[in-house]
Amino acid sequence: MPTAENKSGPILDVRDFSVSFNVYGKFSHVLDGIAFRVQRGERVGLVGESGCGKTTTLKAILRVLPGNAIVKGGEVLFDGQDVSGMSDAALSAMRRTGAGMIFQDPSSALNPVFSIESQFLTVLKYAAPGGASGKQLYAVATEALSSVMLPDPDRIMKSFPYQLSGGMKQRVCIAIAIAAGCRLLLADEPGTSLDVTIQDQILRLINRLVIDRGLSVLMVSHSLGVIRQSTSRVNIMYAGTVVESGATDDVFSDPKHPYTAALMECVPKLTGGSVARGIPGRVPDYTQPPKGCRFAPRCPWARDICNGQKPPHLEVSPGHHVSCHLVSEGIQ
Ligand code: SF4
Repeated sequence: MPTAENKSGPILDVRDFSVSFNVYGKFSHVLDGIAFRVQRGERVGLVGESGCGKTTTLKAILRVLPGNAIVKGGEVLFDGQDVSGMSDAALSAMRRTGAGMIFQDPSSALNPVFSIESQFLTVLKYAAPGGASGKQLYAVATEALSSVMLPDPDRIMKSFPYQLSGGMKQRVCIAIAIAAGCRLLLADEPGTSLDVTIQDQILRLINRLVIDRGLSVLMVSHSLGVIRQSTSRVNIMYAGTVVESGATDDVFSDPKHPYTAALMECVPKLTGGSVARGIPGRVPDYTQPPKGCRFAPRCPWARDICNGQKPPHLEVSPGHHVSCHLVSEGIQ
């Protein structure tokens, strides 16, 4: 039974969502009340350091968290339906045709011992069980390969992954996702393992698909440059919390949260100057996260209240939200 597409409202709505992991009896509190939305046809970024919970968030959206994960609260709504409450049939339909995912390393996303044709047609048969003939599915696959600018789709279909470059493999993964009919593309660092020119081509391709096919994209990356180029709204994550969110241009031109500002300072400037010193300290131990603001141990502006109370997520200008006591006290 396919998930009914709800044309109104966001395609993805993550509300006050928290996840902990039971690691040999110790609880690691990774996601702490994250909230963000992806509207239809929108490109939204999720950016933060490695280990801040980006990939856990993506797994939660597809409900593929490992068995030791415990959802402590909140919900993930896909097309208005709570993912954790979906029946097996609805969940299967959502994974088949609702949300598709492309990964950082396309080489590990494709099975090396099967041809592209075999893998592509297997996915399409799963996406449309009992529907089209093999010939029709082959035509859908080659059309999708053409639409991601891969020349000679018949040759690509006959190829094995080792015969394709990294950029070609990533295009194949994108083609598989769009041919299956996905409406929300979850892109987990889609260009990180590729060289910069190929990465740029992949990002431009994703941007074009958003326009041509009305796709929605959740782009996850640690790269501020990638997020600035590829999204219209951004959520800055730190240690399992969303600390700042808003229109990408607003957040990049006027970062309000001390962590966002420090991240921006770390970007090397084309004009040269001194080498960025980075952000002193490290992400907190998730088994004993700070009681208040999770950035407090590294924040040069931390005050007593920061150690004891979580900052509220406040709107500082239309659509621009920040979680910081400096904002709630009118200092920032
Ligand atoms: Fe720094 Fe306090 Fe703001 Fe957290 S709440 S970012 S510790 S000033």
